[in-house]
Amino acid sequence: MGADPNCIFCKIVAGAVPCFKLFEDAETLAFMDINPVHDGHCLVIPKAHYPTIFEIAPGAIEAAARTAARVAKAVNAAVTPDGINLMQANGEGAGQSVGHFHLHIVPRRADDGLLFNWEPKPGDMAHIAEIAERIRGFL
Ligand code: AMP
Ligand code: ZN
Repeated sequence: MGADPNCIFCKIVAGAVPCFKLFEDAETLAFMDINPVHDGHCLVIPKAHYPTIFEIAPGAIEAAARTAARVAKAVNAAVTPDGINLMQANGEGAGQSVGHFHLHIVPRRADDGLLFNWEPKPGDMAHIAEIAERIRGFL
């Protein structure tokens, strides 16, 4: 997949829109999120335009994961958070606002109150098994 002329992240890749660049290699780019949850919040994208996890090529997601690991270590060293979440949204229902695959690197504070975590509650094992079977049918 190439570039989408209407995509803000493709414009960043092309240099037509500025960014606070952290890192780039042949396949990926990492830059600061301009609406940060906390200091150090940044994004990793494949340079090629893939809207979501459903379209992304295996090589592109591998490259993005490699870059995310590298950048997350640097963020961790630079802002010494209590932890870091990697977050990635697919579709409006999941809160995706930019339709170019991206990984968020989100530094966290233990008391930041971000509603990103949930209380684990024991599930119904029969129901879990049934859903697992349904998913396996598509693998
Ligand atoms: P999502 O809502 O998961 O699709 O995340 C999109 C993210 O991109 C948001 O956190 C935005 O703040 C961020 N964003 C949008 N435009 C830009 C931009 N021009 N430069 C940097 N970050 C951006
Ligand atoms: Zn794009």
